[in-house]
Amino acid sequence: MVKILITDPLHEDAIKILEEVGEVEVATGLTKEELLEKIKEADVLVVRSGTKVTRDVIENAEKLKIIGRAGVGVDNIDVEAATEKGIIVVNAPDASSISVAELTLGLMLAAARNIPQATASLKRGEWDRKRFKGIELYGKTLGVIGLGRIGQQVVKRAKAFGMNIIGYDPYIPKDMAEEMGVELIDDINELCKRADFITLHVPLTPKTRHIIGKDQINLMKKNAIIVNCARGGLIDEKALYEALKEKKIRAAALDVFEEEPPKDNPLLTLDNVIGTPHQGASTEEAQKAAGTIVAEQIKKVLKG
Ligand code: NAD
Repeated sequence: MVKILITDPLHEDAIKILEEVGEVEVATGLTKEELLEKIKEADVLVVRSGTKVTRDVIENAEKLKIIGRAGVGVDNIDVEAATEKGIIVVNAPDASSISVAELTLGLMLAAARNIPQATASLKRGEWDRKRFKGIELYGKTLGVIGLGRIGQQVVKRAKAFGMNIIGYDPYIPKDMAEEMGVELIDDINELCKRADFITLHVPLTPKTRHIIGKDQINLMKKNAIIVNCARGGLIDEKALYEALKEKKIRAAALDVFEEEPPKDNPLLTLDNVIGTPHQGASTEEAQKAAGTIVAEQIKKVLKG
């Protein structure tokens, strides 16, 4: 019987699919040592983003054939080490695009209208109608960095708010951007200069690390709002902190951080920073889809 080890919380429908093809063990919250031990016996490992499937974990596996990542980013999996051992890595790249796009729009609106700060104030018993004056999305320019699955969903929704969209993505053809109604910009600095709102939807790679650094932030408008629902490492947090502290830009709305969970992150002490704890894919719909898509893929691979 195929042994399937699940080490992060997985949707019940996904577990049901996996139970059709093997003996399932759900063991969440394992220590590294426990994982190194348990992995020896597993034929299939299913994770979300919590479990770090590092080289030593993969090397300890004696029977492992498939690693399933119920979600998009596989940065918690050493794919190179897996490939060297002939282990197949499957994921669900489409499952959470709409959820992340909706959170992005939610954060844009929340930052533009100071919704979290106003809620906190209201709950403190205050009635401060002047302090939270915001700005509209309508008629503003949105700069989208990365026009892949999520970026495209953001574009569609932002257009409904009457925004003008400019985009930076050197890997998509110009006519594709035109079809989406996006003006493609081939210089990220130009996008930073022109945008009122900037949102990031690129993967974190050595090339995209700190794609928004001090130089880019210095080019932004005084009223610029930056949203990051992709990966923390895309923004130089130190530079962002300095700019927000000195009010060189208006606000930041962050779902992701360079270090997660953030430890003494000074950004979180600022009034013009709002955020969520990596909630982009955290919806009923996305989690069900991520789990079931990966479970179906695993089933297919096992059945050959
Ligand atoms: P995708 O692969 O469909 O799109 C990424 C786009 O980025 C592509 O169009 C690619 O051409 C572009 N790109 C790559 N390198 C670039 C560069 N140097 N400059 C500009 N563009 C570049 O990915 P996606 O599904 O849209 O997801 C985007 C990212 O969102 C993921 O990599 C992941 O890190 C993040 N994400 C976050 C959450 C969350 O919970 N907050 C959930 C899902 C995904």
